[in-house]
Parts: sequence; structure tokens; C-alpha cells
Amino acid sequence: MSQLKYCQGPRCHTYDTKDRKRGPKDNKRNETRRRSNLCYLNGNACSMQCQADWFDVYGSRALDHFGRITEAKVLTADNAWRKSYDYRGYRNEADRHYVYNHLTEERRPITEQQYDNDNTITNDGRLNI
Ligand SMILES: [Zn+2]
Repeated sequence: MSQLKYCQGPRCHTYDTKDRKRGPKDNKRNETRRRSNLCYLNGNACSMQCQADWFDVYGSRALDHFGRITEAKVLTADNAWRKSYDYRGYRNEADRHYVYNHLTEERRPITEQQYDNDNTITNDGRLNI
């Protein structure tokens, strides 16, 4: 059983829907949604509206906390690698996996295991094989 968690949208309780209503007839109130599975804000908000509300209230503070980009990031041949594959199932063949440099257009074959390995290309686009 997955645990119920609250939507992190700071205004979730202000949206008037049936599923947010709680309490007896003479003392109705709306509450923040609580779900086992939330689909927005990386699993932390119940709707796009609540995700947008979160960003409106906390987005700038999050950028300040984790660090803003203060100079241009640069894409060069060293960090322009992506993984991809040619689908060959329609020919009853194995798919052909490769790394592709989208700046130089160089293409190098890799194994399916290398394709599935998250470390084959680093988070910043560098080839790691
Ligand atoms: Zn919500």
C-alpha cells in the first residue's frame, strides 16, 4: 500500500470541488487533496493549477536556494551527446542503439546495455564510455 500524501499546492484547499469537501452539513470546509499518487510537480501536486500555484509562491525562492544561472552555459562538441536508437522491430531485427553528437553529427554504435545505462552519457551531455 502506498501512503497518502498531501498536494503541496499552497492554494489547493481554495478550489471548490466535491472531493475537497469535509465535515458535517452545518460545518462544511474544503481541505487540501490527499492522494496516494500525485501526477504533477514531480509527484507532489494534484493538478497543473496546484503546480503553477506552487511555482508562483516558491519558484523564485527555490532558484535562489539552489543557485541561479549567472553566466551563459555553453554547448560544445564535448557535451552535445545524446543516446538514441533506430527501431528495427518492423523488420524482425534488434534495434540499433547509438550515441549521437548533435553538434558534430558524429554517430557511434553502442550496445543495448550501454543504451540502458544512465552513466553512458553524463547529466551535462558528456560521453562516458
Ligand atoms: Zn492540489
